[in-house]
Amino acid sequence: MSDKTPKQQKIAIIGGGIMGVALAYHLSNDERFHVTLFERGSKLGGLAGYIKYDGVRMDRFYHTILSSDLSMQSLIEETGVKQYLHFTATKQGFYDGGKLYPFNTPIDLLKFPPLNIFQRFRLGLQVIYAQFQSDWRKMDDIPVEKWLLRVSGRGVYQKVWKPLLRAKFDSEATDVPATYIWSRLRRMLGTRQGVTSKEMMCYLENGYYTLIEAMANQAQDRGVDIRLDTAIDEIMIEDDRVTGLRTPDGEAHFDVVISTLQSPILLKLIPHAPPQFQELLRKQEYLGVLCPMLIMKRSLIPYYVLNITDETIPFTAVVETTNLIDPKHVNGYHLIYLPKYIPWTHEMASWSDDKVRDEWLVYLKRMFPDFQEDWISEFLVHRARYVEPLRPLGTSDEIPRVRTPVPGLYMGNTAMVYPELANC
Ligand SMILES: Cc1cc2nc3c(=O)[nH]c(=O)nc-3n(C[C@H](O)[C@H](O)[C@H](O)COP(=O)(O)OP(=O)(O)OC[C@H]3O[C@@H](n4cnc5c(N)ncnc54)[C@H](O)[C@@H]3O)c2cc1C
Repeated sequence: MSDKTPKQQKIAIIGGGIMGVALAYHLSNDERFHVTLFERGSKLGGLAGYIKYDGVRMDRFYHTILSSDLSMQSLIEETGVKQYLHFTATKQGFYDGGKLYPFNTPIDLLKFPPLNIFQRFRLGLQVIYAQFQSDWRKMDDIPVEKWLLRVSGRGVYQKVWKPLLRAKFDSEATDVPATYIWSRLRRMLGTRQGVTSKEMMCYLENGYYTLIEAMANQAQDRGVDIRLDTAIDEIMIEDDRVTGLRTPDGEAHFDVVISTLQSPILLKLIPHAPPQFQELLRKQEYLGVLCPMLIMKRSLIPYYVLNITDETIPFTAVVETTNLIDPKHVNGYHLIYLPKYIPWTHEMASWSDDKVRDEWLVYLKRMFPDFQEDWISEFLVHRARYVEPLRPLGTSDEIPRVRTPVPGLYMGNTAMVYPELANC
């Protein structure tokens, strides 16, 4: 940065999701910077945003903080909201052949009926093997399906891994490197505690927004200017360096611009960036998510997440977050999310809310014959276009860098944390 006097370095952050707000919070500690954050929506939060129902804030998309997410927990402590953080032992299960099976402890694995004894043993060994594998690069050129078939065999693949992959990558799973499973297993094993191997997760009362709000308030107290309802139209680049932003209110000069947008959105804002950089951003692909949220009067499953092996069911998991969140923190409701990750060219991306509701309910009733529609207080359909970054085989050298080739322009987004996962 330059030798300008304190408060003279003008920094713009684009995007008021958790990344943009966290960045504003951290930069506001440094007196050399004057920070302005631009968010196109009417509230902060982005994908980690909330809805308000019956006077309570609830996460728009299901979110959990893993007990192994230590940096998130330190941020929560540092911002003074630790009293709202609650740890719970959670459970997961599988839906197979019309039945629900727990899938949590080594004992569950040993008794898991969809697999025979040999397959259960093989799966156990695979999990142990992944724990000791430290070099993910060895797995980055191997297709995940090939690796899983080799290590765990077809039976385990069909009954366990395929549903998990489908839940996250839909039909794109064949293009994903084996690194994904390595990363997922290591992340999830980090949440297990004690000899019972209980899976511990945490949540923040009133959702992730509790942290976002605390960071935003403290950043504002230290001089950060937060502008809502302000969509940036262009990042101005002159003589190959950033000069400022084009906003709905006109042009504004900035010394440094930091984008926290997903790469395809950033691409649209930089028509004057070098062609190679634009080309790099054009290659970054994402899956979107169609994610109905049911606010219910009754619980549906005893698990945080129920994985589904039946491929005819349009949603790929049932996530009941109130098996993690104490229902008393959401006015006694039970919150259920029924996600489907899809490329945005998929026909479901254009389905109306009514169509999604009708289709989803048919299958919910098939899975749970006792289920009654009047258990639902509200059926909300949430969607997002750019959620799950896709990192096809052998492309880890195509991850954009924080310092872009345009002087003064920096970027950060979830596609850049590879091989770590953006969510769970
Ligand atoms: C169903 C689901 C479940 C998830 N579960 C978990 C979980 O359990 N744990 C976990 O850690 N993560 C989870 N995630 C992922 C997590 O939500 C994201 O990784 C995180 O919220 C991304 O934050 P971000 O700030 O990088 O991006 P975003 O939240 O996308 O923020 C980007 C912001 O930029 C704004 N913007 C866009 N264009 C412009 C413009 N032109 N001008 C100004 N502003 C603009 C947007 O409005 C948005 O607010 C989940 C996500 C989904 C969808």
